[in-house]
Amino acid sequence: MSSETRRLVFATNNQHKATELNAILGARFKICTLLELGLEIDIPEPHDTLEENAREKSTTVYNLIHADCFSEDTGLEVAALGGAPGVKSARYAGEHGHAEKNNDKLLGELASQQNRKARFRTVISLIENGTEHQFEGICEGNIDWESTGSNGFGYDPIFIPTGATKSFAAMTMEEKSKYSHRKKAVEKLISYLNQKK
Ligand code: IMP
Repeated sequence: MSSETRRLVFATNNQHKATELNAILGARFKICTLLELGLEIDIPEPHDTLEENAREKSTTVYNLIHADCFSEDTGLEVAALGGAPGVKSARYAGEHGHAEKNNDKLLGELASQQNRKARFRTVISLIENGTEHQFEGICEGNIDWESTGSNGFGYDPIFIPTGATKSFAAMTMEEKSKYSHRKKAVEKLISYLNQKK
């Protein structure tokens, strides 16, 4: 690691998210996940908002490692469903993290719905010297009528960001980054960290 590379502890067990962030961050920062720290913990997500869940995750890990760290919580907010699945996106179809079931359920709910508007919203929670800072990233788009593509994860096969003609799952990671909610939130995190150098 070069002396210019800053290590950031990312409080996640989701390897997809870590891979995406490493690709976004390039050589400037190196993400270190819980797995890489040897921490085997299930981080709770008990709250009704992304903001509270993100804070719960970062605080839980901060209290264990006593070092600066950040977490993120993401939800898919569908306009015709009043913002659902939102904070419950991971367990929308009941089983935590079962992407195919979640996507099938969502396509079923929207089967006769012409309003396909949706957005991904990411909230990053950074704990720095014991103080929390949050950063938000939003990607507007539409839910497609069917699943397409095999890249990415979660709801990527059914979400088409505004300005694109294919789903996130039909894009390379670099293409997804052009639109990504996660990228927008992480760019805010980086500009905050860079200000303090
Ligand atoms: P969580 O932030 O890990 O709680 O994720 C909430 C749910 O949204 C999970 O089902 C994830 O798979 C899904 N999700 C989170 N980020 C993305 C994304 O960038 N694309 C597609 N699905 C995502």
